[in-house]
Amino acid sequence: MLRSFISKRSFSISFRNLSPTSKSHDIVIIGGGPGGYVAAIKAAQLGFDTACIEKRGKLGGTCLNVGCIPSKALLNNSLMYHQMQHDSKQRGIDIEGQVKLNIDTFQKAKDKVVNQLTGGVEMLFKKNKVTYYKGNGSFENENVVKVSPVEGLEGSVKEDVLLDAKNIIIATGSEVTPFPGITIDEERIVSSTGALSLKEIPKRLAIIGGGIIGLEMGSVYNRLGSKTTVLEFQDQIGASMDGEVASSIQKILKKQGMDFKLSTKVISAERKGDVVDIVVEKSGKKETIQADVLLVAVGRRPYIEGLNAEKLGLDVDKKGRLVIDDQFNTKFPHIKVIGDVTFGPMLAHKAEEEGIAAAEIFKTGHGHVNYNNIPSVMYSHPEVAWVGKTEEQLKADGIKYKIGKFPFIANSRAKTNMDTEGFVKIIIDAETERLLGAHIIGPNAGEMIAEAGLALEYGASAEDIARVCHAHPTLSEAFKEANLAAYSKPINF
Ligand SMILES: Cc1cc2nc3c(=O)[nH]c(=O)nc-3n(C[C@H](O)[C@H](O)[C@H](O)COP(=O)(O)OP(=O)(O)OC[C@H]3O[C@@H](n4cnc5c(N)ncnc54)[C@H](O)[C@@H]3O)c2cc1C
Repeated sequence: MLRSFISKRSFSISFRNLSPTSKSHDIVIIGGGPGGYVAAIKAAQLGFDTACIEKRGKLGGTCLNVGCIPSKALLNNSLMYHQMQHDSKQRGIDIEGQVKLNIDTFQKAKDKVVNQLTGGVEMLFKKNKVTYYKGNGSFENENVVKVSPVEGLEGSVKEDVLLDAKNIIIATGSEVTPFPGITIDEERIVSSTGALSLKEIPKRLAIIGGGIIGLEMGSVYNRLGSKTTVLEFQDQIGASMDGEVASSIQKILKKQGMDFKLSTKVISAERKGDVVDIVVEKSGKKETIQADVLLVAVGRRPYIEGLNAEKLGLDVDKKGRLVIDDQFNTKFPHIKVIGDVTFGPMLAHKAEEEGIAAAEIFKTGHGHVNYNNIPSVMYSHPEVAWVGKTEEQLKADGIKYKIGKFPFIANSRAKTNMDTEGFVKIIIDAETERLLGAHIIGPNAGEMIAEAGLALEYGASAEDIARVCHAHPTLSEAFKEANLAAYSKPINF
């Protein structure tokens, strides 16, 4: 009697578990980019049975595959190439013979890093017991997500799998914003994705958009020898940078050979054989510019194709972003949205913070992201990094402030490294002297901005920062000195 009871019971359990088309999880995450994969690992660490669906075939999303990582690999290696050609001699390093670029190996080096990092995320999934489904995720209803096979995708699910989900996180990211009337062929007219994999260095590169992505890719090819022209509709480059910083970095990039056409509207662009004709208009005058490659870098837009969000009636705003409340909730409290597909700056670290907060809210009811303290970095040389308020924002908000600045020309480490362009600009509240914003142009600015983030988070004043002992000789002493300058006087300038 007992035996027959046990065998019936185990039969019913194994039947449920082995069903090929239906599984259940505590949390199902759609999208394996920095938002989705970090949320998945955190959720698993918090004890949830977690699954992540990704249709690209590799984890890491835009960032690891066609964004942050490949662009930084090209930036780093193109800088080395440029420095060997133009900078090493004055340091007493004579390079015998010609410094040559092997574009094939240059691209392979980038691909190798991408593969190592995307593979690394897959290993982290295994380590943390996150179930990884390769396929397209779409809503069947508010509790069931369907994973469908993707043609040609290695390891893709072979048939539809229905996931019964107690909680769901949408992290489907973003895609390149097209330019009306311009056809991207990823050969002569490219998006950032095509620009990351050019097979030869264009003699002339034109870029629509003087934002971070355009300027970073422009820096790469400018260093490799392309005559680079940036076409920008606004009268300033650098998107959300502090105005003073934006015009300083423009001067520096111009000195490096980049050409800027500001207040310039692109009317059309057309590939004619191996050349692209670009018609632009400035102050009512039209002109045709020719380029061998045109990079369209006018931004990114939220991506929800194939998600079937319409079926649930999820709210989408005018910019195509999924609408959420301050707990990342859609109209269903068990369905949250994070990363590029919703509000806020389209940055990998912002998506990651949201991933952690969303998982924590599911666990404890609490989770937080400080949107006033999200750093931005442009990985040009010198780098540009900023966090907190710009002067323009403070003026608009009617907040009184004081400024402290310190140039890298007066910093001993920058001098030692013969790398002295740029400055640290600190903005503090006029009365309380608390840090409101930090803006840095300089070598390793992207690393240094972390100190400003920590200070902002803990409400430090300029004096608090300046009284912290900074190692000598380091670039970070410029940060300390700029804080000294903000409330008193710098020592070394
Ligand atoms: C050239 C370039 C350089 C960049 N450099 C930086 C940088 O230096 N620093 C920085 O912070 N940010 C950078 N970014 C931005 C950064 O890449 C994004 O902000 C970040 O990747 C957003 O993360 P996410 O998880 O929200 O979305 P994504 O990274 O876009 O990931 C979303 C994932 O979801 C998958 N997906 C979508 N729909 C489905 C579906 N229905 N089913 C299954 N899977 C789906 C997609 O395939 C994708 O892999 C850069 C972007 C570009 C293009």
